Amino acid sequence: MIDSWRDEIWRFVALTVVGVLLGLLADNVALGLLLVFAPYLAWHLYNLNRLVRWLRQGKQFTPPESSGIWDDVFEHIFRLQQRNRKRKRNLRRMLKRFHKITVALPDAAVELQPSSEEIEWWNSAAAKYLGFVYPRDTGQRISNLLRHPAFLAYLHSGNYDQEVEIPSPVNEDITLRIRIIPYSGNRRLLIARDMTRMQKLERTREDFVANVSHELRTPLTVISGYLETLLDAPECGEAFGPQLRSMQVQTERMNRIVEDLMLLSRLESEVPKVDAEPVQVGRMLQSIVNQARELSGLEAHRIELDVDPDLCIKGREPELYSAFSNLVFNAVRYTPAGGRIKVSWKDTEQGPRFAVEDSGVGIEPHHIPRITERFYRVDAGRSRSRGGTGLGLAIVKHVLLRHQTVLEINSEPGVGSAFQCRFAPQRRISCDQDTD
Ligand code: ADP
Repeated sequence: MIDSWRDEIWRFVALTVVGVLLGLLADNVALGLLLVFAPYLAWHLYNLNRLVRWLRQGKQFTPPESSGIWDDVFEHIFRLQQRNRKRKRNLRRMLKRFHKITVALPDAAVELQPSSEEIEWWNSAAAKYLGFVYPRDTGQRISNLLRHPAFLAYLHSGNYDQEVEIPSPVNEDITLRIRIIPYSGNRRLLIARDMTRMQKLERTREDFVANVSHELRTPLTVISGYLETLLDAPECGEAFGPQLRSMQVQTERMNRIVEDLMLLSRLESEVPKVDAEPVQVGRMLQSIVNQARELSGLEAHRIELDVDPDLCIKGREPELYSAFSNLVFNAVRYTPAGGRIKVSWKDTEQGPRFAVEDSGVGIEPHHIPRITERFYRVDAGRSRSRGGTGLGLAIVKHVLLRHQTVLEINSEPGVGSAFQCRFAPQRRISCDQDTD
């Protein structure tokens, strides 16, 4: 028990005893108790009154002087007040720091009200990039201020795993990458980043690759031509046959790399002219499988083709040809002689599905997330010796992205791999609409 309480109880007991004794002397116990407890009660009321006045004043820091239990009460409240003041000071400091951080943030940050599109708060970068004005735009719906269709679709989709890029409403030359982050259940924070510099760098890189590939094409054609002439000339063919043939193989490889680089550049930079034309996928796969059998040659892979001939889709034929042939030829390249390869094209509930399965070398799980990167190879020696450029799956990824789908990879080392993609059901069309 707290000391002051013990003292108070003792005081109470002592007063009661004194009161009773006085009462006995005066032959009236009630009077005795009244005489003793009236000043006691008055003392408590007096202190209660001082406490109320002290709390009301608020500004007075030191508590009133008192004694007994009241000294304890004043002291405790005083300590609580001090702790509160300290906490408030810390909170104020934190708020100031938070405010300074948000002002210094290069990214625009906008907080929306709970379960609503109304704007609650934004930082200075949001004023700069999104043109919000304080206090005019507080409480405005964000969809009234950022009206770009891509942003509105993103905002209303409720799926914020991806980001969206739109031009800044303040300056069309600035590209903003916007991400919405849901938090605390029903709140949303919008972050917008200026991507203009990154985009310029990316464009410079793309232009560089496209230009280098283009510039290499002519010298390579000339070298190939002369190599053929030299091999045909009997005196050179006899003396330098193996060297010239090796040079020819390497030149062809360089040619394929240049072709693939140019195709990748086109896929990255060009907005498709034709959005979608009817593609006879079954017929296309038949032609790819014929080429794959030629590629397999003496290795005699068992290549099966299982297609639905009546299943056609809207897409860009040359791109799909590139993607599917890369996947089928890879299956031949990475499956030992006599292995099984199955190419299928079927309709499913989720949409048309293309798949290539092989009983090849397989891929270890940690390589899978990276094999669609340019020049990423699990085994560079094997890839080169099998005529790979290291760009095949990067091309596949881009083509599929341009068809709003993704490559799914399942593989087990030593057992085989399965590469598949599913096209949206809306792409399905009747094969009768084919134009050729
Ligand atoms: P490459 O020209 O080297 O084949 P790709 O981009 O087509 O380049 O493929 C990247 C890497 O992925 C390959 O080097 C290979 O290691 C692996 N790979 C691709 N397809 C298969 C497959 N069907 N089986 C096993 N590994 C594969």
